[in-house]
Amino acid sequence: MSGFDVIIVGGGIAGASLGAEIAAHRRTLIIESENHCGYHSTGRSAAFFLESYGGPIVAPLSAASADFLRDPPQDFSESGFLHRRGALHLSRDGWPELPRGIEGARVDRADIERLLPGIRPEWCKALLEPSCADIDVAALHAAFLRRFLRKGGEVRTGAGLVAARLLPNGWRVSLFDGSELVTPILVNAAGAWADVVAANCEVRPLGIAPKRRTIVQLRVGRTGLKELPLVDDWEGSFYFKGETDNSIWLSPHDEVETDPCDAAPEEIDIATAIDRFEGVVDWPVERVERSWAGLRSFAPDRVPVYGFDADAPGFFWCAGQGGFGIQTSPAASRLAGSLLLDAPPHTSIAHIDKAAFSPRRFS
Ligand SMILES: Cc1cc2nc3c(=O)[nH]c(=O)nc-3n(C[C@H](O)[C@H](O)[C@H](O)COP(=O)(O)OP(=O)(O)OC[C@H]3O[C@@H](n4cnc5c(N)ncnc54)[C@H](O)[C@@H]3O)c2cc1C
Repeated sequence: MSGFDVIIVGGGIAGASLGAEIAAHRRTLIIESENHCGYHSTGRSAAFFLESYGGPIVAPLSAASADFLRDPPQDFSESGFLHRRGALHLSRDGWPELPRGIEGARVDRADIERLLPGIRPEWCKALLEPSCADIDVAALHAAFLRRFLRKGGEVRTGAGLVAARLLPNGWRVSLFDGSELVTPILVNAAGAWADVVAANCEVRPLGIAPKRRTIVQLRVGRTGLKELPLVDDWEGSFYFKGETDNSIWLSPHDEVETDPCDAAPEEIDIATAIDRFEGVVDWPVERVERSWAGLRSFAPDRVPVYGFDADAPGFFWCAGQGGFGIQTSPAASRLAGSLLLDAPPHTSIAHIDKAAFSPRRFS
């Protein structure tokens, strides 16, 4: 026997946050195939908290995570992870509308011009969502891993799952280096590889699809941008936010289906991003300072999957976090933790319907 009650496959934000939640109760090992945790999607996000994002089932997870991110428990972090920025949702047509319960204020053309001097005339309406914030993703991920280790968890990097089989004494897990571990509970927190891991464990994949998204750090002939709000097209064709005094992070809002991989940006997506940006403001584009891409992985209904598999005993899904896996991680890990431990939910998530996230919805 391996001596572990739970093995979590994947050391991104999903695996780390769930690990932090359960390590005090179950001897838990995180195995991560890369040499450091957070190399894939978690290390490539746009790092914002936007409560209106992700649809009506995801929004309560974001809302229930806000207090933790803003003012975490002292033993988790001495400082919060959010830096208020605000979001400006632009429209060429009707007024954008936020889901019920999320604060927003309409902004007319004169105020749009004040917030975004040089904005093209067709952007005539906007909605300001003041609670949008930057997330210090590296600090948050590190704090989850720190709590996990402090509670007795163990992390092995450079340790990828090759295959696993369910035997009478639990899951026998084979690793890249030929070693084997046995555990009663195997957690699939493998991000873009969630379906691959399932198949390699002889579990029916759920259709978790990785989709590539590109971000460009663009230097522009304009200053005073650091605190620029997150600016997006309400119809979903771009977003950008200030990075330094004269640069922005810009995304063409791409969503390109791809196999799981070490994603890299494509020239065409960078060009599309710049083209769309030039259709929003008249700011001169000086150069691309850097660019990167990452994979956002979605279940067929774009709702994350937390819970035990319907057919494979002890196989627990923690996958499909799409474009909101960072901002939902505090509440999602509490929800997944209570399901895995079969324990009452934390009060902050007691109102959330767990069934909506169950893998059984695909049965
Ligand atoms: C460009 C971009 C912008 C984004 N912006 C935001 C944002 O602003 N806010 C937000 O909340 N979210 C955002 N997201 C989404 C967020 O980054 C993801 O939802 C989140 O990081 C998913 O975390 P994860 O742990 O599931 O995946 P990952 O971080 O990818 O971790 C999965 C890990 O599993 C490991 N693994 C895979 N197979 C195996 C195996 N066989 N054995 C061992 N280990 C394995 C991988 O190496 C990987 O490290 C963005 C994503 C992208 C790409």
